[in-house]
Amino acid sequence: MKKYVLPDLPYACSALEPHYSARLLELHHDEHHAGYVAGANAALEKLATAREEGAFEAINQLQKDLAFHYSGHMLHSLFWRSMSPHGGGQPDGDLARAIQDSFGSFDAFAGQLSKATLSLQGAGWGALTWEPLGQRLVVEQIRDHQNNISSGTLPLLVLDMWEHAYYLQYHQVKSDWVTAFWRLVDWEEVARRFHKVRTLDLPL
Ligand code: FE
Repeated sequence: MKKYVLPDLPYACSALEPHYSARLLELHHDEHHAGYVAGANAALEKLATAREEGAFEAINQLQKDLAFHYSGHMLHSLFWRSMSPHGGGQPDGDLARAIQDSFGSFDAFAGQLSKATLSLQGAGWGALTWEPLGQRLVVEQIRDHQNNISSGTLPLLVLDMWEHAYYLQYHQVKSDWVTAFWRLVDWEEVARRFHKVRTLDLPL
């Protein structure tokens, strides 16, 4: 069975300083993200064993474990690529126009994503996603890694608001972490993703 693998960071651990400390980035990637990769692989193995043995007593827990750990792996992989040492500012071109069409303005979009992320009750993420049925960009407030997500949406930009994502550097001041994140957003990468997903023509 093909296993999930922890991807390397696309930059050095110190590359996002001072907005994201090297120690925080190292712990977040090497410990937390690695844990989700291991958890997803363990869930796949247990499900394979359950199929072989026809023993599905734990099926509900195993499906939940797979969704949680796989989603944690996927979101963190995207999170590293949502940021860049040369990030910040605003997008231009087609992505800027799509944000304007979907949210009214960049400031309205940024305000919604910031508020949705800061208002999470418990652990979760804020996300900009492409919604293929309505062909629009939407903001989503993801609980844990896998709950409260609209079916079929594709994430373009994700903001980690689990305590492990910021507490070492920002302590309880979540808003300072969100402010720092905006200074790191890699809009060129977000635009690359946007151009790929918007051409999806699903038979819906
Ligand atoms: Fe995280």
